[in-house]
Amino acid sequence: MKEYVRFEKSRQRTIGFVPTMGYLHDGHLSLIKRSKEENDVTVLSIFLNPTQFAPNEDLSKYPRDFEKDSRLALESGVDALFYPKAEELYPNNYQTYINVEALSRHLCGKSRPDHFRGVATIVSKLFNIVSPDHAYFGQKDAQQYFIIDRMAKDLNHDVNVVMCPIVREKDGLAMSSRNVYLDPQERQQALCLYRSLEKAEEAITAGERNAQKVKAIIKESIDQNPLAAIDYIETVRTETLEPVDEIEGPTLIALAVKFGKTRLLDNTIVRI
Ligand code: AMP
Repeated sequence: MKEYVRFEKSRQRTIGFVPTMGYLHDGHLSLIKRSKEENDVTVLSIFLNPTQFAPNEDLSKYPRDFEKDSRLALESGVDALFYPKAEELYPNNYQTYINVEALSRHLCGKSRPDHFRGVATIVSKLFNIVSPDHAYFGQKDAQQYFIIDRMAKDLNHDVNVVMCPIVREKDGLAMSSRNVYLDPQERQQALCLYRSLEKAEEAITAGERNAQKVKAIIKESIDQNPLAAIDYIETVRTETLEPVDEIEGPTLIALAVKFGKTRLLDNTIVRI
């Protein structure tokens, strides 16, 4: 991959980069499309990164379909697919990790304490291998975006980190590789994430500014679904991810809700 990138850069080509864990869906494809619009060359990586999964999480069960992924990558015009093996990126005696400190402790960091250390480490390694001019991340994982953006600035990675909008199923569920885990009842009730965020937005548009009240509206809406177990409902400042009491300025309203063993994320950013 490094030789390929060096060659393209020697021809003054700009490199767009889309890192993923595979099992591609339209959310991933929207990042590829944006990269193709803004760069000469688009590199897609598919790597199921072991260091971002805790031992009790779903690494071994995470859905995979490399044949379909490589076909979708080709059809969507990806120029290079990077598909390394875990032992290539983490050889024996691997010891170096990156910790984006405060940002990693909020939101998902509370229930997944080492998750973002794994994410920041792999993305930094991939940035060093791919040397992208622009790298594309989904708002669906908003905390991940803010962490990677901070890390790129802090570690002088010469890359512009771009956040792309959430792509949803027709009924509003945010697309995710993990949605295949949901049984039909869970899939139906999972709509409550999006719907509760819509209710919160409506209340804010109508003038509500109190974060506790906004969170209560979301909770009430989700609690009508017996299969839904709330991990968190948070209103935080974008960039810092610090909790806010008043909805004022750009605010991330973020949810994590479990259905059985499947943990789903959704969010919206309100700008007032
Ligand atoms: P993953 O393969 O789940 O690690 O996701 C790879 C990239 O795709 C991340 O930047 C995600 O935020 C992004 N992504 C995943 N789902 C969506 C979606 N529904 N809409 C937009 N981007 C997404």
